[in-house]
Amino acid sequence: MTGKTKRFPLSLSAVAGKSVNWERPTSPTSPSPSKAVATPQTATQNAAQHVNRKPAAAMRTAPAAAVVERQTPLISDAVRHAMVARIGKLGVRDDKVLRAMQTVPRHLFVEPALASQAYIDASLPIGYHQTISQPYIVARMIEVMRNNAKGGELNRVLEIGTGCGYQAAVLSLVAKEVYSIERIKPLHELAKSNLRPLRIANIRLHYGDGMLGFPQVAPFDGIILAAAGIEVPQSLLEQMTIGGRLVAPVGTRHQILQLIERVSKFEWSSETLEECHFVPLRAGTV
Ligand code: SAH
Repeated sequence: MTGKTKRFPLSLSAVAGKSVNWERPTSPTSPSPSKAVATPQTATQNAAQHVNRKPAAAMRTAPAAAVVERQTPLISDAVRHAMVARIGKLGVRDDKVLRAMQTVPRHLFVEPALASQAYIDASLPIGYHQTISQPYIVARMIEVMRNNAKGGELNRVLEIGTGCGYQAAVLSLVAKEVYSIERIKPLHELAKSNLRPLRIANIRLHYGDGMLGFPQVAPFDGIILAAAGIEVPQSLLEQMTIGGRLVAPVGTRHQILQLIERVSKFEWSSETLEECHFVPLRAGTV
């Protein structure tokens, strides 16, 4: 990285500099996954796979050591490219979103044993009955949020359900400021340790109940819920800017992706987009 003035948000590759290779160090006996768990759109089943394990960061090489030890060639660029091509085929057209998906090293957000599945278009377990979301749906939600009257410009966005921090990293490339809330303390810590080595300056992680939103920093141009409730909490609707867009899965076993736009101070419009499958939105913190 040079000493030049930095413009935010920084691209991850810009932050890393050319010499940095985001590959995880591999052992001589190649990293084969312990379990084939990846199937698209099955967040709850996938979440249940590794219920009692420790979060990924606890088992991973320390970030600083990872930078030094990386010796494998860059392979994740190519597999990530294939993932992005699939997302494009599934209908995501927003170039800025596709570029962000190409930039963020998803394999660093899952435990090493699952790293080889990181670019399959599927949700994967991250512990505590939760999942990293399916790449297609991450891209789709961000595309929908960006499709606003300001040509995609997003100042401040809020994510409910940080999980391992992957979607927050993608959001950091399309919005000026990203706030992300997680209700499970160890996952909040996991996201912090996953994001730290990427040195992304415009993400703020918060431990708390996202159903209450983040009134201290509201209003938001965009809000994304990464967990499904039976309805979108009223407090979130009130924390949107006029013209702001909220994208959320709604439902229990049968879920639909809902887009809500704030039309005026007292008016919101709502649209149903497509079926989806997310882990449940829950109140309170643990
Ligand atoms: N954004 C993640 C997906 C995480 S899964 C990604 O990048 O892939 C959804 C997350 O929402 C879980 O970690 C779960 O604990 C969290 N969650 C559920 N209800 C919540 C609430 N009320 N407030 C904050 N987080 C919540």
